[in-house]
Amino acid sequence: MNAVAEDKLSFIDEEIARLKQEGLYINIRVMGSPVGPWMIVDGRRVLNLCTNDYLGLANHPRLREAAKQAIDKWGVGPAAVRSIAGTQELHVELERRLAQFKGVEDALFVQSGFCANQAVIPALVGREDVIFSDRLNHASIIDGCRLSRAKIIVYEHCDPEDARRKIEENIGQYRRGLLVTDGVFSMDGDIAPLDRLYEIAEEFGVITMVDDAHGEGVLGRGGRGIVDHFNLHGKFDVEIGTLSKAFGVVGGVIAGKKRIIDYLRQRARPFLFSSATTPADTAACLAAVDLLESSTELVDRLWENARYFKSEMQRLGFDTGQSQTPITPVMLGEAHLAKRFSERLFEEGVFAMAIGYPTVPMGEARIRVMLSASLSKDDLDFGLEAFARVGRELGVIS
Ligand SMILES: *Cc1c(COP(=O)(O)O)cnc(C)c1O
Repeated sequence: MNAVAEDKLSFIDEEIARLKQEGLYINIRVMGSPVGPWMIVDGRRVLNLCTNDYLGLANHPRLREAAKQAIDKWGVGPAAVRSIAGTQELHVELERRLAQFKGVEDALFVQSGFCANQAVIPALVGREDVIFSDRLNHASIIDGCRLSRAKIIVYEHCDPEDARRKIEENIGQYRRGLLVTDGVFSMDGDIAPLDRLYEIAEEFGVITMVDDAHGEGVLGRGGRGIVDHFNLHGKFDVEIGTLSKAFGVVGGVIAGKKRIIDYLRQRARPFLFSSATTPADTAACLAAVDLLESSTELVDRLWENARYFKSEMQRLGFDTGQSQTPITPVMLGEAHLAKRFSERLFEEGVFAMAIGYPTVPMGEARIRVMLSASLSKDDLDFGLEAFARVGRELGVIS
């Protein structure tokens, strides 16, 4: 290779060096076992306080069995996009069941929650339109907004008054508006004030959309999501969920009014230009809906575990932030401290990730604990003891 050709990529080495120097380089850990309360991570058996497997479905026998049967009946791949020849009876059945579960007119199943945002936002708004977006919205919402080419106006985090001011000031200059927010914010575990946002958006005729990736299977009656939690049935225009977190599989769901879902089947680009999810995934998702519809036991246990862990952490003297959900941030402040804390926890047999700038604001580094219904009381106590030991050792608690 000549020197010039080699040099054109030198920016990569510089970028990587910079990330390492700032402590922002991501070391990707490798799982050597299925998802569960205990996992093999980088060759070590550790307690899992890290994954989004809220209900313990990622390796659930009923979902595994459903996936295996679907492979025998349907094969492994759909070999087409949904709109050409990829829509199998399984996909239609899952959409029917999800719509019923969530109490909406219709639902569209896509490849992931990330795809769902790319599917919806550019279909609803374009160049002549405006989007009002929470400051802490998820990257996939931000990318969906950018793809739409609409004007993006950011309102302060969970601040309906600021959203109102910005809508009132700007809406007149655009063809139409869309308000979009995360349902549960994944770094702090707080919940968007959906009822007030809805009232404001309605007042100005703005389309409403919520991405409830961390609320699907967690919030609402038996995990029916944030719209159910706020009792806004039939009101919010679009509710996005993921089947990759609490549902334990993979995929995204767009739930709402039939008029919108029908339109998305004609316009949503990830639906039109990327192949359908596999029969195994789709059947496993159906089995997850079965489980959630049959009992609230898993969702109840998840919340019990969250309450117990949070209150014990607070009793130990940890600051667990503003969380209203099973996402439990353990606030540490400085990024290097959070990283060191996470490394020490790992040595003590607990897998919990440090999160720092730019994922969270500077000076608000933390360990993010993800709780799950699959954790036993003994598991939680094991985790609490490790937090107490490391917390005292590093001077975070006394
Ligand atoms: C995790 C997450 C997504 C992505 O969902 P996937 O199904 O993993 O693609 C989208 N939006 C929000 C708010 C999320 O937290």
